[in-house]
Amino acid sequence: MSTPFSISEAELDELRARYRHERDVRMTKRRAKARKSTATLADVGLSEADPHMPPIHREPLTDEVDVLVIGGGLSGILSGAHLRMRGVQSIRVLDKAGDFGGVWYWNRYPGAQCDVESYIYLPLLEETGYIPTEKYTRQPEILDYCRKAARHFDLYRDTCFQTQVTGLEWDERRRRWTVHTDRGDAMRARFVLMANGPMDKPRPPAIPGIETFRGHAFHSSRWDYEYTKGSAEGDLSGLADKSVGIIGTGATAVQIVPHLGRSAKQVYVFQRTPSTVAPRNNRPTDPSWVASLEPGWQQRRIHNFTALISGVAGLEDLVDDGWTYAFKKLMCNPDFVGLSPAERAARTEVADLELGEEVRARIDSIVSDPATAESLKGYYYYFCKRPGFHDEYLQTFERPNVSLVDTKGAEIERITPDGLVVNGAEYPLDCLIFATGFDINSARTRRAGFDVVGRDGVSLTVKWADGMSSLHGMMTSGFPNLAFSPGVNSQFAPLTINFPTALGEFARHVAFVIAHCIDNEVEVFDVESDAEAGWVQTIKTRSARNDPYSRQRLELLQACIPGFFNNEGRPEDLPETDANFGGSALEFYDMLENWRAEGRFAGLSLEPRRAER
Ligand code: NAP
Repeated sequence: MSTPFSISEAELDELRARYRHERDVRMTKRRAKARKSTATLADVGLSEADPHMPPIHREPLTDEVDVLVIGGGLSGILSGAHLRMRGVQSIRVLDKAGDFGGVWYWNRYPGAQCDVESYIYLPLLEETGYIPTEKYTRQPEILDYCRKAARHFDLYRDTCFQTQVTGLEWDERRRRWTVHTDRGDAMRARFVLMANGPMDKPRPPAIPGIETFRGHAFHSSRWDYEYTKGSAEGDLSGLADKSVGIIGTGATAVQIVPHLGRSAKQVYVFQRTPSTVAPRNNRPTDPSWVASLEPGWQQRRIHNFTALISGVAGLEDLVDDGWTYAFKKLMCNPDFVGLSPAERAARTEVADLELGEEVRARIDSIVSDPATAESLKGYYYYFCKRPGFHDEYLQTFERPNVSLVDTKGAEIERITPDGLVVNGAEYPLDCLIFATGFDINSARTRRAGFDVVGRDGVSLTVKWADGMSSLHGMMTSGFPNLAFSPGVNSQFAPLTINFPTALGEFARHVAFVIAHCIDNEVEVFDVESDAEAGWVQTIKTRSARNDPYSRQRLELLQACIPGFFNNEGRPEDLPETDANFGGSALEFYDMLENWRAEGRFAGLSLEPRRAER
């Protein structure tokens, strides 16, 4: 994708009109019920069970730890690692899964692979002494790495796996959290980190008749290898005589579909909106590159990527992939330096339309059937949907056993006992796979599956009923000794593509506060109300809605097709406070670093240990 496109004004206007039309179709055709659905897999008869680990038996716990980390994914591992690096000994990681790994524990579907370069995606590589085997490494290696990192930082010592938290309560007399779980535990913790991520709750589609399907069905994050055979590497021999349908064409489906195409007798890909699919160009790690690495290389590489996607133009591009290609065209284009915010936004919009044309031209060069090629073309701004990268997805539609069923933005009519109905036609299926994503936009406590009761019996759900309020998106007043890791619209740094970077900055910051408390006989930290009000005000004034350049970009996003980036097409329905910091990620991380360097713990009240509890 290197040819710069030059499009006439009339063509640009045509594209703009087409983009608006695609959004309007989806906004009007989407069932209101579907937009608001928070149904779980179990609600529609799909398995939520852990297919990877036999049940663990243990007695309920009522003991006490210094730090309890809820979630053993990358956020929990990073939190544990930073706490260990600051000398904290008593750490318990708790997860409903059977091991560390988080999304990489659950999402073992064929083809699962990181989309952000593994040398910056996998955290703490220098600390653990590991180098990924490929630029975009695969799920089994990522999961192994999560376990390796957990071992390296001695985080297995006191874990509670297959344990779902059911409630957290602050005990003011003891000045401890009580943690209730589905195992009957009532353990105590001095500090609690909620490191449960935003992609924890698989979302089934709200399609009438879903529970009537008689064939085999599962969600992509609960892949059933007993049925399909094979592994995350593919070779799904169990599908050789099966007609398989997959609903969804997001980043997950883009990775699954090539494997279905190779293995199943017949594949129907049910598409409501096509993904952008750019080249992936994966390659094995070059040993001579590894030999050339100098200490500090990973942090420098992460910083370089963060700077590029923060809009710093003219930098060397160390990662040099599809993400940075798009960012260099749009947000950090050297040609736009020095322009007024309005001019910059206007030039960025045109560049975005041109980039769309490049992506669409690539489809024509790969897919020979004109109708299928046209259906695979997305007509929306580049970051409306999370872009995908793959070198075999589009090619899969050349196979005679693979059919694209395009609803053109409309809803799938219904699911029957024997298949699926679109535009009046029934597609008979033996197996139906839901690659329909996760509940990302509903309230944090709802997604977590438990509420948090802080001082004076106030719950987090009640406190945040009209919108979030926090200090730096990590702590909130009245909920002492508690921190929560960032998600979408969480008053933290803007979303920066490489999510582990944000999780690492969270972990670094919170470990600093907790280690200070432990080392200095500070029993309780809490957020001062004034400081919290100040941060909420900062979010309001510095949110993307108020920065001239970002506002215009945001208006484009508001004109986007619905998805989880824009609250299913209705960002205006979110409270004003439920936004991320409007400055760059670099500015946000520098702000945290200065806060720590000052050592004043500004905005926190630090209460000394009492003589007795
Ligand atoms: P997703 O991006 O939310 O995509 C869900 C797909 O299901 C969309 O194509 C959506 O169509 C479709 N869908 C949902 N409900 C539907 C319905 N009722 N009828 C028809 N279609 C329906 O979910 P995902 O693909 O699992 O990806 C989620 C996130 O996980 C990604 O954004 C990414 O952050 C992460 N991820 C990362 C990687 C990686 O790094 N390698 C891989 C996979 C996923 P519409 O677009 O029309 O809504």
